[in-house]
Amino acid sequence: MPDGALLIRGARVLRPGADPHRPPVADVLIAGDRIAAIRTAHDPPFDLPVGAEMIEGAGRLLIPGLVSAHYHSYDALLKGRFEDMPFDVWALHSQPAYLGRRSKAELRARTLLGAMEALKAGITTIQDMNSLVPQDEETLDIILSAYAEVGIRVVFSIALRDLPDLDIAPFLPPDLPPDVAALVGGAPRDPAADLAFVEAQLKRLAPLPPRLHWALSPSGPQRSSRALLEGIAELSARYHLPVFTHVYETRAQLAKARRIYPDGSMIRHMAEVGLLTPRTTIAHAVHITDDEIALLAQAGTGVVLNPVSNLKLKNGVAPLVAMKRAGVRLALGCDNNSCSDCQNLFQAMKMFALLASGADANPTGVLACDAVEAATAGGAQAVALPDIGAVAPGMKADLVLLDLDDLAWQPFASAARQLVHCETGRGVQTVIVDGRVVLRGGRLTTVNEAAFRAELAEVMEELERDHAALSARAAPAIPVLLEANEKLSRVDLGMWRLVGGA
Ligand SMILES: [Zn+2]
Repeated sequence: MPDGALLIRGARVLRPGADPHRPPVADVLIAGDRIAAIRTAHDPPFDLPVGAEMIEGAGRLLIPGLVSAHYHSYDALLKGRFEDMPFDVWALHSQPAYLGRRSKAELRARTLLGAMEALKAGITTIQDMNSLVPQDEETLDIILSAYAEVGIRVVFSIALRDLPDLDIAPFLPPDLPPDVAALVGGAPRDPAADLAFVEAQLKRLAPLPPRLHWALSPSGPQRSSRALLEGIAELSARYHLPVFTHVYETRAQLAKARRIYPDGSMIRHMAEVGLLTPRTTIAHAVHITDDEIALLAQAGTGVVLNPVSNLKLKNGVAPLVAMKRAGVRLALGCDNNSCSDCQNLFQAMKMFALLASGADANPTGVLACDAVEAATAGGAQAVALPDIGAVAPGMKADLVLLDLDDLAWQPFASAARQLVHCETGRGVQTVIVDGRVVLRGGRLTTVNEAAFRAELAEVMEELERDHAALSARAAPAIPVLLEANEKLSRVDLGMWRLVGGA
């Protein structure tokens, strides 16, 4: 825990109970890793404690650090690389299993890059659902130590899947050429061994260093045997850990659920294996029915929406207004760099508000405040950290100061609406995680950025070479995947989530 105190003086403070449009000015005192007290103009001012640092907050907006509740760091270096690819084609080019073992320097660089980008955009907590390749302690330790170095809060899960084939595999022709069959299939894994590996890490790394937290992740119910899903449900109950998994991200996943589950519902299957609980948050839920949304609300299971990646990968728009009306708890994520190209929740918040607005000709009641809530308190709930996501005494000091002199805020009308609709991330001035200033004046305090760029340039040579080889290997599978994808788009599955109607 950092020593000393920090006083943020005279910022507008967006906090529970305050007017979200014109939050009043207050002083916020931080002691160690927590917010100690908040005083407004009506209270006597704080005396600056001896040795305390004072941060000038005049002309600034203080908000809780943003929570990106869905992210994968493994392909952070693959930004700006893909476009116009349906999900399964993209997966073949971006999933870590296809690239194979990476150097220690690359593991470190990619972990740092995503975290640095997130911090600079005011994200203080990320949920990194990480597929370890190879799945061993050395790989895990390199990643966690990079996180500890950069100073972001991370809720880390080791993504498990024992059924390796692509989601679209059941809809491919049976007579695939062997090289294509090998790419879209693969050998199943032993669920008991994978669960034992995860539990061994929970025990070995207990307690985790500050700012690191555990979660559990089956990659997706349709990619997991019943034994694996039940094993994760059991670990979650026994260790009180949150669970994150991909559900109904694509139309192929919907079609597969209709085919493989007795009643065709992935959500009911999750209930059967013990995963439809308040500890679980599902990523995406694009292709979900109203009945299934009601089941989520009833169970207290949350959804983390990733509007940017859903659009980029041609999956469409999740029924977020229906989820909101049903009372499903919502969080927001940036998803991975290979499919959303950046770590920026301002984009996700704006997309959330715009997609809600564009879903109905009449008022929906889904407002900017709801987007802010999903990116802060909603995210905190998803990652099961009740002491982040709000500016209040006793909470962790995970905070962001935004520059109200930036033109995005001129003239000032509403903190909540301008956060969602005007701010791009450019105004992020100061970021505090666990009471420690990790970004000051827009510069990271924990990483030398010039040295980092040199590290990055070094690892990119090998990655470029290996990625070119992967693309060449994947090429023969592309026409087969596109044909299956096109056929699926013509099958009536009772819903249509792409923009512009069926
Ligand atoms: Zn994901």
